[in-house]
Amino acid sequence: MKAVRIHQFGGPEVLTYEDVHDPRPRKDQVLIRVRACALNHLDIWVRQGLPGVNLPHILGSDIAGEIVEVGEYVTDLTSNGLKAGRRVLVAPMHFCNRCSKCVAGLQNQCRHFTVLGNGVDGGNCELIAVPAANVIPIPDSLDFNQAASVPLVFVTAWHMLVGRAGIRPGQTVLVLGAGSGVGIAAIQIAKLFHCRVITTAGDEAKLAKGRELGADYGIDHYKQKISAEVRKITNKEGVDIVVEHVGAATWDESVKSLKSSGILVTCGATTGPNVGIDLLHLFARQLTLLGSYMGTMRELHEVLRHVFAGRLKPVVDRVLPLSELRAAHEYLEKSQMFGKIVVNP
Ligand SMILES: [Zn+2]
Repeated sequence: MKAVRIHQFGGPEVLTYEDVHDPRPRKDQVLIRVRACALNHLDIWVRQGLPGVNLPHILGSDIAGEIVEVGEYVTDLTSNGLKAGRRVLVAPMHFCNRCSKCVAGLQNQCRHFTVLGNGVDGGNCELIAVPAANVIPIPDSLDFNQAASVPLVFVTAWHMLVGRAGIRPGQTVLVLGAGSGVGIAAIQIAKLFHCRVITTAGDEAKLAKGRELGADYGIDHYKQKISAEVRKITNKEGVDIVVEHVGAATWDESVKSLKSSGILVTCGATTGPNVGIDLLHLFARQLTLLGSYMGTMRELHEVLRHVFAGRLKPVVDRVLPLSELRAAHEYLEKSQMFGKIVVNP
């Protein structure tokens, strides 16, 4: 099959479109023909070099495609069963499915947990073999590019807001980066919970799109000071929850935007991981800082129910052929997109 692999870590030039052996599925696996694979910022981190990545390596976490073959040991008791030809998406998590965390449904706390395309080969290829538990049928209302744009960012945003921050109706939520995958998901999830949403972006066109997704207010983070605008919007009170994934560039403004006893939840650090914390603020204002990493299979199924019903919508920025993955990475690194960048094998 064709695949894009990296044989060394580095810039987009290390992405190599080449022939590799077809995967040979185990009897407990399902073989998928990849029709679409969405990019995430994680792809850039992995390409540049993360511990635990064995070379050569195939990137790509978010996969949608068709079932080619179902292993003989795969039992499926659901009416919407797994069989050849079925259109599916692939849960982007890799876990052991045996340890006490996994059987308790806390897959993202498994010692062996990793993301597809990070610790194990991903979907920048034509065929992939995955455990049956990861294979989820999709409705006809979603095309492959839309379906591939869902799993990682929507389960991440759901775990942040629902699993970690305990979002409640009527709260005010600040979502950084309206055009990012997590931002697009978090705006819509917060509106699903009848919250007031403030979002940020680097230009007016992105802010307008953020409002189309349901955001009530937009802040231009290049022209305006986020915490000052939040104070104006909230009558000096601050927000209940901040959804952080930007890191160093926005951290101080994010913390300052919280109300007393507010919650900051973070899942990433695209502009760098090293930030400061003012302990006077933390204890005197009784703030809560939460880390969040991906989500559980239960949470993925929960958020997918809303996506499949059309209450939450994936946003695709552009689609390129897999052979042009290098150009897709270059575009991702410019951060000019609104929504997901998808490649088709
Ligand atoms: Zn486990």
